[in-house]
Amino acid sequence: MIKEKYDVVIIGGGIGGLMLAHKLISKNENLDILLIERGKGLDKRSCPIVTGKTPRCIKCDPCNIMEGMGGAGAFSDGKYNISTEYGGWLPDIMDKEEVMKYILQADEILMSFGATDETYKPDDELKKLCLQYDLHMQQAKVKHLGTDANFKTMVKLVDFLKEKIQIETLATMTDVNKDTKEVFFTQKGKEYVTTGENVVFAIGRAGASNFRKWCDKNKIESTNNQVDIGVRVELPSIVWEHFSKKIYEPKILYRTQKYGDITRMFCFNERGHVVTENTDGILTVNGHSFKEEDKKTDNSNFALLSTSRFTEPFNEPIEYAKSVASLANMLSGGTVLVQRLGDLESGKRTNEKRLAQSTVRPTLKAIPGDLSLCLPKRQLDNIVETLHALDKIAPGTANYDTLLYGIECKFYSARPKCTNFELDDAKGIYALGDGAGFTRSLAQAAANGLIVADIILNKE
Ligand SMILES: Cc1cc2nc3c(=O)[nH]c(=O)nc-3n(C[C@H](O)[C@H](O)[C@H](O)COP(=O)(O)OP(=O)(O)OC[C@H]3O[C@@H](n4cnc5c(N)ncnc54)[C@H](O)[C@@H]3O)c2cc1C
Repeated sequence: MIKEKYDVVIIGGGIGGLMLAHKLISKNENLDILLIERGKGLDKRSCPIVTGKTPRCIKCDPCNIMEGMGGAGAFSDGKYNISTEYGGWLPDIMDKEEVMKYILQADEILMSFGATDETYKPDDELKKLCLQYDLHMQQAKVKHLGTDANFKTMVKLVDFLKEKIQIETLATMTDVNKDTKEVFFTQKGKEYVTTGENVVFAIGRAGASNFRKWCDKNKIESTNNQVDIGVRVELPSIVWEHFSKKIYEPKILYRTQKYGDITRMFCFNERGHVVTENTDGILTVNGHSFKEEDKKTDNSNFALLSTSRFTEPFNEPIEYAKSVASLANMLSGGTVLVQRLGDLESGKRTNEKRLAQSTVRPTLKAIPGDLSLCLPKRQLDNIVETLHALDKIAPGTANYDTLLYGIECKFYSARPKCTNFELDDAKGIYALGDGAGFTRSLAQAAANGLIVADIILNKE
C-alpha cells in the first residue's frame, strides 16, 4: 500500500539511492522511507543477451542492465576506486578529505554485505613508464569486486533494506511537484501519488534526460558541456598483463598531438566480455569481467574515449553523443559495430570474412563494419593516435587485429543548480549521483548517497 506521506521518498534504487536509504534507516529507524525503482527487483533482472536468449539487444523496457534494483552498477565489474582522483566531481563541490571519508564509509558498508577487502595499490614504476611517453596514469587504490561478487553484495544490501523501508519496483516516477513535493508514479498500469517531506532524485544515467527535462520545466538551471565519445578496445589479455596483474585497472590520460584533445583509457576489464548498453533506446558498448575463472575469456577490453567540451551556443552534448551512437546503430541494423584497427587504418570495412581471419576472437556478437562512417574525424584521429601511443607501453595494443567496437559514449548528466545537493528554489528536493552530473562511478555515487543522508539527518 502506498501511504499518503513519507519522511523521505527516494527515486532510483542504484547504489546512490541504496546507500542513502541504508544510512537514513541505520541512524533513525523511525523514518518512513519509500524507494521507487523503475526497473525490476534484482532476482528478476536478467539481460537476454547475457543469458544467451538473443544475440542482440532487443531493447527491453526497462533495460535490465541499466535499470532495476542495484542500478547500473548491479552487473558492473564492481571496480571500486578508493580515490578522489577520478570517478566524479564531488571533490569540486566539497573538501577532498570529506569525500574520501564518505567513500571509505561506503566501502565499509559494502564489506559488511560481503564485498572483498582485497585492494590493488598504485604502482610508481608503471606511472614512470607511462610518463616516458607523455601518457599520464591516474593512480588509485582499487578494489575489484567482480561482476558476480558485486551482484551478490547488492542482493544482500537490498534484502537488508527490504525489511526496513518500503521498496516498490517497476514503479516509474513521472513527475514531482516542486512546491508540494508530491511524487507521481506509475506501477503496473496504475497511477499513484504520494508526498515526501524530503524527495531525492537518485535516477542515474538512465533517468538523466528526464531529470533534465524536469529541471527545464521547473525552471531549475542545469549545466552540462562535456561528452566523451569513442570505442571499446578488445585485445589478447597478455598485452596489458604487466599492468593488470599489478594495479588491476590502468586509467591513462593522453593529450593528442594533432588536436591537443584529451583522450582517456579506462574501464579496463581483464579477461572480460564486451557488452551492449541501452540508453534511451540507443545502443552503445561497455565491458565487464567476472571474478570466477570459468567465466573469464582470453581477451581484455577497455574504453578509449575522446573528450569534447562545447561552448556557446551549443549545449546539447548528450544529444550529440546519442546522434553519433545512433549512426552506428543505423549502419549495423540496430546494434553496434566492430572493426579491426588494421582495416580501419587502411580504409577497409571489416566484413564477416575479414573478421573470421582475425586472431582476436570477439566476445560480443557485433556487426563487422566501418567506424569511420559514423565516428567524427576528430574523435577517430584522436583514438587512432592514442592507440599508437599506448602501444609504446603495451606493445600489441595497436596490432592489425585489435578490435574496436562502437560507439562507446559516456554522457554526463546536466548538473542542477543547488546548494548542498538541495535544488535551488525547490526546498526539500535533492539530487545525487550520476543522473545529476555529480558522479560517474560506484564509489562516488555511493558516497553521494551517504552525504545526502547526513544532510537530511542533520536537518531532522
Ligand atoms: C556496464 C557498466 C559497468 C560499470 N562498471 C563500473 C565499475 O566497474 N566501477 C565503477 O565505479 N562504475 C562502473 N559503472 C558506473 C556505475 O555503475 C555508476 O556510476 C553508478 O551505478 C551510478 O550510481 P547511481 O545510483 O547514481 O545511478 P544508477 O546506478 O544508474 O541507478 C539509478 C536508478 O534509478 C532508476 N530510475 C531512473 N529513472 C527513474 C524513474 N523515473 N523512476 C524510478 N526509478 C528511476 C534507474 O532504473 C536506476 O536503477 C558501470 C556502469 C555500467 C553501465
